[in-house]
Amino acid sequence: MVTCSFCGRKAVYINPLNGISYCKLHFNSYLEKRVRKTIRRYNMFQSKEHIVVAVSGGKDSMGLLHVLNKLSKGNPDWALTAILVDEGISGYRDNTIANLKKYAQENNIEYKIVSFKEYIGLTLDEIVDRGRNLNLPYLPCSYCGVFRRYVLNKAARDVGGTVLATAHNLDDVVQTFLMNIISNSWEKIARLKPVAEKGSHPNFVPRVKPFFEILEKESAVYALLNGLIQPDYQQCPYARFNIRFTIRKIINDLEEKYPGTKYGMLRSLERILSIMERSQFKSGNEFKTCEVCGEPSSHPVCKACLYRYELGLMSPEEEARVKRAIDNNPYLKKFIVNSNSSL
Ligand code: SF4
Repeated sequence: MVTCSFCGRKAVYINPLNGISYCKLHFNSYLEKRVRKTIRRYNMFQSKEHIVVAVSGGKDSMGLLHVLNKLSKGNPDWALTAILVDEGISGYRDNTIANLKKYAQENNIEYKIVSFKEYIGLTLDEIVDRGRNLNLPYLPCSYCGVFRRYVLNKAARDVGGTVLATAHNLDDVVQTFLMNIISNSWEKIARLKPVAEKGSHPNFVPRVKPFFEILEKESAVYALLNGLIQPDYQQCPYARFNIRFTIRKIINDLEEKYPGTKYGMLRSLERILSIMERSQFKSGNEFKTCEVCGEPSSHPVCKACLYRYELGLMSPEEEARVKRAIDNNPYLKKFIVNSNSSL
C-alpha cells in the first residue's frame, strides 16, 4: 500500500512529477493551498466582494464552489452566489442541476439557474436544429460557448456580482493555448490571463480563474474525495464535434510520455503573456458596446447578436440595428455567413 508522505495514512494521490503522495486530508490541504496561492498571486479577490461562481455541476466547478465556500467563511465581507447555465441539451444537465441544488441547499449557498431558453429564446438543441436548417456552418460548441459567456455575464450582473469565478483548470488553459496557436489567434492567447481586466466595460463582470494552476486530474480527485459529484460522469452529446477533445487527447498522451508537459506549456503561456504585456500587444479586449444589445463586445455588434441575427431570433428593430451597424462597419460582413441574409 502506498502511504501518505506526510502522515503514513493510505495515499489517494501521487504527484507524478515529484513522487509525493497524499492521503485525503493532505491532498485537500495541498489543493486548497495551491488555489489560495493562485488567488493571492493574481490578486483575484478584494476584501469586499460578491463572488459569482459559474457552476455546471461537474467536477471542476463543484470543486471550485467548495473551495470558495470554505474560503468565504474566513472572509465575512464576501458574498457567494452560484450560477448554473442550462444550455438545453436533452438529458445532459438533469444530474448536474440536481447536484448543484443539493450541494447549495446543504451548504446554505445562494444559487440561480438560468437558461438559454430564457435569455436567447431557444434551447441549444433547438438552436443547433435551426442552424442546420438554415445551412449555417457553426458547430454546436461555437453557439454554446458564445451564448454561455453572454448569459453568464448578464446573470452575474443581475445578481449584483462584482467578480465571476470560472472553473477553468490548467488542462483547459493549455488546451485553449494550443488551439489558438493552431488557428494563429494571438489576440485570443492574450486573453488567456487568469484575471480579465477589471473596469474594462461598465457592463462586464470581471472574470477570474482560481483553478488556473490545478491539473484536471487533481480537480477530479478533489471532487470525488469530497463527495461533490457522482462517479458516473456523462459527456455532452455534442462534445465529439469539438476540436478541443482531440487536442486534449494529444496533450494527455504527451503528458503520459513526458511528465511535466502541461506545466511546461503553462509556464510558456505565462512567459508569452508577459512578453505581450511588455510589448503592449493589443488583445482586442478593449471593449466596445454592442450597438444592438448594449453588452460588452470586441466589435460594434457582439458575437451573440450576430448569431441571433443569423438564426432569425431578432425583432425587426434589432435586425435594423444590425444592418445599420454593418453599413457603418462593412468589415462586420465577414462574420455573417448566412446566405439567406438580405445584407
Ligand atoms: Fe457546450 Fe460543446 Fe461543452 Fe457541450 S461540449 S456543453 S455543446 S461547449
